[in-house]
This record gives sequence, C-alpha cells and structure tokens, in this order.
Amino acid sequence: MRIKTARINYKPNSDEVVVDITVKNRPLHILSPDWEIVNAFRDGKITWPEYEKRYYLLVGERYFYRPAEFEDIVKLAKQQTVVLTCFCTDEKHCHRQLAKHFLQTIDAINTIFYLKS
Ligand SMILES: [Zn+2]
Repeated sequence: MRIKTARINYKPNSDEVVVDITVKNRPLHILSPDWEIVNAFRDGKITWPEYEKRYYLLVGERYFYRPAEFEDIVKLAKQQTVVLTCFCTDEKHCHRQLAKHFLQTIDAINTIFYLKS
C-alpha cells in the first residue's frame, strides 16, 4: 500500500492520485476532520494530542458506518500512490498524517484477518 501526504497544491506524477481531505473542500469525506475540532485546535482550546484523539474517534466512527469508502481508498492505494492533501504548512500538526496512519492500521488489521481465514 502506498500512501503519502502533501500540501493542497501538490502536482501528482502519473502514478499518483490526489485525494483532498480538507473539511473546507470536502466536508463529508471520510478522512476530513469536522469544523468543531479544527476550530477548537485553531483557537487553542485543545492541544494537538487532544486533536489526535478526537480525530481518531471521528474516523473510527465513520469506519464503523461507512467501511466501503475506507476500503476503496485502501484498494486504490494498492494500485496507485494515494496522496492525501490539506492546506496546513505544518505537516506534524495536520490530520493528513493521522489519516495515513488510520488507513495503514485498517490495512494491517485486514491483513491479519485474511491470514487467519
Ligand atoms: Zn491540515
């Protein structure tokens, strides 16, 4: 599985597919955060570790209700390099890293189930 992250204006190579996961452009995307946590972090009401926790809870809940959309991205990332993009200049404090980690975790868990069956 090949997933990378970049800023929103990233120019992909021919084997890469860009997925915009910003709440501004794609508020309903499974990997976008919601405005509540984005604004809370921006306004200094929550720390980064709290943001991480709330983001993982959000995508975890979406994975429960909308698993096919996650599986589609995982599948895509086995055929092409998926590039998750967001506006943030500071990648360390951007959900795109968390989104990548979440997808890698799903893939790892699915691989374990596959090996067991
Ligand atoms: Zn971001």
